[in-house]
Amino acid sequence: MNNKKFFPLLFISTIFCFCFPSSLFAEESSTVNNNGIIDLRILETTDLHAALVNYDYYQTKTDNTIGLVKTASLIHQARSEAVNSLLFDNGDHLKGNPLGEYLVRIRGIQKGRIHPVYRAFNYLKYDAITIGNHEFNYGLKFLTTVLKGLKMPIVNANVYSVKKNKPYFKPYVILKRSVVDKQGKEHQLNIGVIGFMPPQIMRWDKANLEGKVIARPIVESAKEFVPIMKAEGADIIIALAHTGIDSEPYHPETENAVYYLSDIPEIDAILAGHSHSVFPGPTFKNLPLANINEGKIKGKPVVMAAAFGSRLGIIDLQLEVKDGTWKVLNSRSFTRPIADEYGEPLVKTDKKLFKLIKPEHQETVDFLKKLGI
Ligand code: MN
Ligand code: MG
Repeated sequence: MNNKKFFPLLFISTIFCFCFPSSLFAEESSTVNNNGIIDLRILETTDLHAALVNYDYYQTKTDNTIGLVKTASLIHQARSEAVNSLLFDNGDHLKGNPLGEYLVRIRGIQKGRIHPVYRAFNYLKYDAITIGNHEFNYGLKFLTTVLKGLKMPIVNANVYSVKKNKPYFKPYVILKRSVVDKQGKEHQLNIGVIGFMPPQIMRWDKANLEGKVIARPIVESAKEFVPIMKAEGADIIIALAHTGIDSEPYHPETENAVYYLSDIPEIDAILAGHSHSVFPGPTFKNLPLANINEGKIKGKPVVMAAAFGSRLGIIDLQLEVKDGTWKVLNSRSFTRPIADEYGEPLVKTDKKLFKLIKPEHQETVDFLKKLGI
């Protein structure tokens, strides 16, 4: 800028400063300090057990009560209704039906090929996932190989490497997302995501795990990492908890630890799983300190979306950011089913997803046919 232009500009801005009342500037600064109310929708699939297709391999027929190809339509719908959303899987996704078995025992996962479950996760653009106890059933080598095909982070904080005495997986991630508030203004939100699974894996998968990893208690692991996540800038923390809901007194071997994870103040939302139940739902109507209408345990949002893709879990959080500090103002958790009580489909099949995983599905069907099943 040359001086000829600069001086008149300086002159104009000086006049401007003296002539306008200070209240105008106070108002301007309040729009600069980035306060706002933000709706954030969190979506959960859990315990898919390799149910990618709405198909019963044992009875060789369509089953519209299962299958991620159906849940995917609920995911698309739930995303389209929300300004800001995140999608997570809560584990036990690789094993549990003939497709999962066929891939491991007959076909194998060749180098460079992505496991169809993870191909589906990549296509649906999950933000992060955790793993469940059943992910160890095929051994650590198989698991670490197939995990390489994932395009999003996988977190678990309570399985430790024996050799390194450190978490075997990434214990947590802090996702940086820009979210839009009710006025349409963008904010940067750092979302801490941490994962857990039942310590019983050491008994259930002794042959695969002994000497290689150890499992630590869930709540103790949470209490160790949550302050570190906060110190690293997590504005909110979401627990991907592959563990169920039970109010029995806590002990380090507790398999279903959600009830006690909900006591940790820094954890803002809990995605539950493992026990294949529905929360909120009538199963938990007598659970102390639970609000079945709002989907809360001890005031904290929790959701559990059954199993096999039969439901999508949803937590709607209302967040407030004030002077750089975030807090949860309100929440509501619920699940949506893919079929009605008679097994009639409530949603369409995601045809693109079906096409992506059809080769392995068809091979499994053909293989079972050859066996005469
Ligand atoms: Mn399971
Ligand atoms: Mg499980």
